[in-house]
Amino acid sequence: MGQAVKLSTVLGILLTLLATMPTAVLAAAPLAGKKFVVDAGHGGWDPGAKGPTGLTEKSVNLRVATSLRNILTEYGGATVKLTRTDDRFLTLKQRAQIANNWGADRFISIHHNGSTNKWANGTEVYSHTRNNKTSNDLRNKVQARLVKTTKLPNFGAKTANFAVLRQTWMPAILTEASFITNPYEEARLKNPEYVWRQAYAIYQGIVDHMGKK
Ligand SMILES: [Zn+2]
Repeated sequence: MGQAVKLSTVLGILLTLLATMPTAVLAAAPLAGKKFVVDAGHGGWDPGAKGPTGLTEKSVNLRVATSLRNILTEYGGATVKLTRTDDRFLTLKQRAQIANNWGADRFISIHHNGSTNKWANGTEVYSHTRNNKTSNDLRNKVQARLVKTTKLPNFGAKTANFAVLRQTWMPAILTEASFITNPYEEARLKNPEYVWRQAYAIYQGIVDHMGKK
């Protein structure tokens, strides 16, 4: 009898816990067990590209990277490391080393584009020129989701010999979701909701690429 009472008490507590858990926790986490390094490009004395009213690429990159970290963790159930969480300078080698030393499954570097032509705007995502199949698949899927979200011209899924892509040992991509030098785009990038939507698009691309179905 005593045992039965204990069992029902335990079951009752478990049911209460389940009922009070957020639905996101109960739903299958598509990226559970996966490790991501999210890299906010530039920082410290290196602002990256600059918008017409002075918005810096380094600050937008950090906002998108932080949003992506939160989304990957909360919706994806993934484990995430940011290369920087504040406005500091890191060498490209240090960024790659963080991912290599930790044994990340994927490396995502967040950038925004710049041009001397202030009307230039579009979306591009890069993988390394070594043309790793897995990196290219991730790149293509993130590119497709970003284009859908930004509604900007599709400048294509490309390859480049970028140091962070060359020096990372795991599949890696670099996103250039839009041009901060375009006045309309700079204004849009000041809106936290748009910044969050860019991060969410990258998350969707990652889930398309490797999420548990
Ligand atoms: Zn950049």
